[in-house]
Amino acid sequence: MAFAVLDDMSGQTTDENARKARWWQWFSGSAEDDAAEPGTDTPAHGNTRELTAREVWLPAKRRMIGKIADFLIDHDLEILPVTLTVAYECVTGGAPRLAQLILERTEKGLPITLGWIEEQRAESTHEKNGEALAVLMSRLEDSLDEFSRTTTGARTATSEYSSALRQHVDELEGVGRAGVVITELAALTRAMMERSIAIETELACSERRAQALQTSLEETRRLADMDHLTGLPNRRAFDHMLEREMREAQENGEALCVAFVDIDHFKRVNDTHGHPAGDRVLKFVGETLSRIADARCFVARHGGEEFAVIWRNHTVDKAWKKLDAAREEIAERRLVNRANDMPFGKITFSGGIADVFAYPEKSAALKAADEALYAAKQSGRNRILKAGEDPGPQQQAA
Ligand code: GH3
Ligand code: MG
Ligand code: MG
Repeated sequence: MAFAVLDDMSGQTTDENARKARWWQWFSGSAEDDAAEPGTDTPAHGNTRELTAREVWLPAKRRMIGKIADFLIDHDLEILPVTLTVAYECVTGGAPRLAQLILERTEKGLPITLGWIEEQRAESTHEKNGEALAVLMSRLEDSLDEFSRTTTGARTATSEYSSALRQHVDELEGVGRAGVVITELAALTRAMMERSIAIETELACSERRAQALQTSLEETRRLADMDHLTGLPNRRAFDHMLEREMREAQENGEALCVAFVDIDHFKRVNDTHGHPAGDRVLKFVGETLSRIADARCFVARHGGEEFAVIWRNHTVDKAWKKLDAAREEIAERRLVNRANDMPFGKITFSGGIADVFAYPEKSAALKAADEALYAAKQSGRNRILKAGEDPGPQQQAA
């Protein structure tokens, strides 16, 4: 099987089902897949001689190279460092999330392009950096809390200590007539009291600095959750918000809906008007969508030209109406590229919406919304479909 790729190269088409089966087998890391194959370097049965390391590893290496070659040929990818890395990671199980995304995309019949691969890798690096930053910020926040508590405690103790000293030094000076020793003791006490007051001032200063640091940390956290192009919350913030909303909606017995929105044919906007103009269109769509946001509706940029929306205490029908109104508003506008006065043409988006609690898990609800979005794209774009909804023949030409 590892050299099935030779059939492809000789011009024979691989059966689609066999190809999908092969994908599943690779990604699930089936043990059978790694079994020795006839006709490779494995010695014949009955040979009692011990296998050399080379005899063990050579067939495995060949199978691995075969899988990598199959991956590149099946997806019609060029041989480049990045595609070789992805192929290697996918067939060895080093990138399970990317492998799953590739599998889903392949099953939908969508191509795995170099651009798409680079987008996924950039997103995953960004995600990893974001998570690492979040961990660091949490640690720093904990240390600052601890520091604030310590300085506040120390300052209170010092303040109480210096008040007690002041009282004692006054009493001591009152009996100063009693002798030199007491006078010296009083002077010493006064010096200690002055030093305590100085320490108290220093501690108050440290406390203020810690508070300022805490404020800038909160600001950094806010920026880490924000998409810089649209000013909307980013995917990381969306993931946290969905977790929180699910927990709270469940506790209060409220409904929860989630939607994915994707701008139609956005690549054409970039190709025709350039990336900066594409950025302005993205900002415009983000702004229009953010107008439906309120205390019970959360809008985020999920990545690329895709947005995500969460509605608390909304039925799917109610959420659909709100999202569809935003879709209509954008579709009715005729945007013009301000750089050269060229019209952008009609900018539209498609969407898929799902009732979160109709599914056993969050991931299943997200998948249902994504599939509805895909169905909306397939059935003509510029429309919002509810999960499981049949696009219907009359709407095919939307
Ligand atoms: P579809 O209707 O099927 O969604 O087609 P599409 O062209 O919108 O989808 P495709 O996935 O082929 O292309 C999306 C494009 O969005 C490709 C990518 O370069 C572009 N894009 C992603 N993020 C940004 C961004 O931040 N700014 C700009 N200008 N373009 C972006
Ligand atoms: Mg997209
Ligand atoms: Mg799109």
